[in-house]
Amino acid sequence: MKLKTEKGLSISTKIAQALHYCDPETGSVVPSIDHSATYSRDENYQPRQAYWYRRDGNKTTQIAEEIIAELENADASLLFSSGMSACTAVLEMLPAGAHIVVPRVMYHGVLGQIQNFASKDRIRVSYYEAGDLSSMEPVIENGVTQLVWVETPNNPNWEVTDISSASKLAHRAGARLIVDATATPPTMTKSLDLGADISFHSATKYLNGHSDVSAGVLSLNQQSSTYENLFNIRKLHGTVLNSQDAFLLIRGLRTLFLRVEKNSQNAMLLARHFQNHECIEKVLYPGLETHPNHEIAKHQTDGQFGGMLSVIVKGSQTDAINVVRNCRVFYPATSLGGVESLIEHRKTVSGDDFPVHENLIRISAGIEDPADLINDLEQALEKAFKK
Ligand code: PLP
Repeated sequence: MKLKTEKGLSISTKIAQALHYCDPETGSVVPSIDHSATYSRDENYQPRQAYWYRRDGNKTTQIAEEIIAELENADASLLFSSGMSACTAVLEMLPAGAHIVVPRVMYHGVLGQIQNFASKDRIRVSYYEAGDLSSMEPVIENGVTQLVWVETPNNPNWEVTDISSASKLAHRAGARLIVDATATPPTMTKSLDLGADISFHSATKYLNGHSDVSAGVLSLNQQSSTYENLFNIRKLHGTVLNSQDAFLLIRGLRTLFLRVEKNSQNAMLLARHFQNHECIEKVLYPGLETHPNHEIAKHQTDGQFGGMLSVIVKGSQTDAINVVRNCRVFYPATSLGGVESLIEHRKTVSGDDFPVHENLIRISAGIEDPADLINDLEQALEKAFKK
């Protein structure tokens, strides 16, 4: 099934209407949840769709994939049961001993999985600094490196990597580029248009936006052998997104444009309010003119910058933890990209081995009234620092 929309419509219209979904039999404007674990073949004993068993996929998941492919300007998207299983599929696809280049600081779960593969000699890894492209070129091995991994902005420092320039460096050396732009969804960052070969998002975050789904998605420009490889890995791992979660994801996607605009506005208001605060050492947010990668971010996120920021508080690690504990409106929870604002002491979550400032507090700005968020953080800082 290929969903069709009128030509010339804006992408926000197409996404709000789930590509003008309309069930051909009933006229329903909401896709139903395809529960079946297996599919009966036709009278010629041929499969009726690309899927004929639960691990291949299902109708609801396929609809969600078509919507995301449209958002990404991709030929095809593949949905997985988590962001981690999608990233693991990419690592699985690499030949034994492949050399890959990754940021030194990136989401700790993906970094941990990359290091896990490296510890078994499945891959060889070199590192660059996410906010400094000049550190990438020297570690790419011409004709040897197979994959360059960009996470932009990187979690939890929110340094920005120029995707177009990274793609030129990767392609010149014969490597492919994967971009994890989970923190700035395709309403603002279209990685494939900027030269990536694979665009990845943890759909658990902004794409779904309601903290009730775990999902990951890989989007590709061509339905090539890479697509077939990833499809087969997903099938053999049994990591296809289930239909119930696909249904919730479709519902979340319809409001993506509205939500991320508000997430971004709230993050900017928080960043501006706290950047010169007496209890705060530094605010890390690409939307601030003082951010070293501000100009690249402006161009790469369509002037929106996203809903994620971090603050480094003055004082000790205990003071930082106390700020988080004292919040009453922000939830002291991990994850990001939802309608509700979350706050966390990152070192507690990523562990002692991960290179993150011990006083760093990560904030996912939700869509609440920004005055309530600012007041909450103000009172939490006051309580933590009132000696
Ligand atoms: N990439 C980034 C940047 C993330 O923030 C996360 C999760 O926080 C992941 C990948 C992994 O996604 P998931 O939690 O959906 O497995």
